[in-house]
Amino acid sequence: MIQVPQQQVPGVYHRRVGDIVVTAISDGFLDGNLEVLRNIGEDEARQILTDNFRPARRTAVNAFLIYSAGRLALLETGSGNYLQPTAGKVLANVRAAGVDPAAIEAVLLTHMHPDHSAGLTDMGTGQRNYPNAELVMHANEPAHWFDDTRMAQGNEREKKLFFQAGREQVAPYKDRWRLFTQGEVFPGVTAIPRPGHTPGHTTYMVSSGKEQLLIWGDTVHVPEVQTARPEVCMDFDTDKDMAAASRRKVFDMAATDRLLVTGMHLHFPGFAHLVRSGTGYRLISGAWETML
Ligand SMILES: [Zn+2]
Repeated sequence: MIQVPQQQVPGVYHRRVGDIVVTAISDGFLDGNLEVLRNIGEDEARQILTDNFRPARRTAVNAFLIYSAGRLALLETGSGNYLQPTAGKVLANVRAAGVDPAAIEAVLLTHMHPDHSAGLTDMGTGQRNYPNAELVMHANEPAHWFDDTRMAQGNEREKKLFFQAGREQVAPYKDRWRLFTQGEVFPGVTAIPRPGHTPGHTTYMVSSGKEQLLIWGDTVHVPEVQTARPEVCMDFDTDKDMAAASRRKVFDMAATDRLLVTGMHLHFPGFAHLVRSGTGYRLISGAWETML
């Protein structure tokens, strides 16, 4: 009797960047509506998704292990159990990749949103999921999310999912935060802040020898729509104009320098190139890589 598969294989994919290995780890995906888009009509956004064979706003959620100079970092932790049951798989997939979470010495964040930082801590036990890791992020992130005045300005969902979830998730790491403003934060990994989506939203350039990979964080949430229409923002961008300006800078750099890119919301594993197309851009998926 042939057994039909009942579940997907773990979402793990390795990519070499010179001497560094970057492993994409899937957290799963989140489905959402189009009402959260700004600077575009819902019908137009739906048409772009339909043209690209995307029936819904399906948001992939990715994290990345970075093996560099004999050390191991994890960039992002996924959504834990705060959002939808289709996501929250980073810890399981880190283990599926053969990695003991205790071996991770640094967790890097692009920003403190629940699909990025809500996998830091097991709220059932209050214990760190990455017990030996320092927590590395832009100084503007905790400054913003721990600001009670800012929290009071948010709606109920933002207060609960962005401010309170962020605070409780990073709290067990509080004696091991390493805050930066820019620069090399891990061997071969340089923080390039691109604020707007959040005040400390940061992209990371991974460089080794002549090879580079730009991990662009949340430069896009709906890749098909926002590459074609870079002005399209999300309702939950802290500063939409700044987010759009940052997106244009990242896009211009990626296309001009022909960079290999990936991101937290590109369809897994997300490695791609960005090219100019009409008045916008489009992504070309990377080819499969062996580890030879
Ligand atoms: Zn996100």
